[in-house]
Amino acid sequence: MTQTGHATDPCGHLHELSEFIDGELAPELCAELEQHMAGCNNCRVVVDTLRRTVSLYRTLPADPDLPPDVEERLWRSFDMGELLPLAKGK
Ligand SMILES: [Zn+2]
Repeated sequence: MTQTGHATDPCGHLHELSEFIDGELAPELCAELEQHMAGCNNCRVVVDTLRRTVSLYRTLPADPDLPPDVEERLWRSFDMGELLPLAKGK
């Protein structure tokens, strides 16, 4: 197994994974990704963490009066700070 890219995104699938979770990934790419995930623990962990983080984020009020530093700390507590722009990119 080659280790390329960032530790959080060792396969370079991070963008696809976020679209996959949002249900925005093309069906044929979904199938491809699912096939990849069957043999890739990294991507399964990312999907699992993203799903939980995104669902947590969506339980927050639509316009949360959360100070940015508190919000950032919340995300960092998941060690997913770098995924924040992806999850929020809507
Ligand atoms: Zn992977």
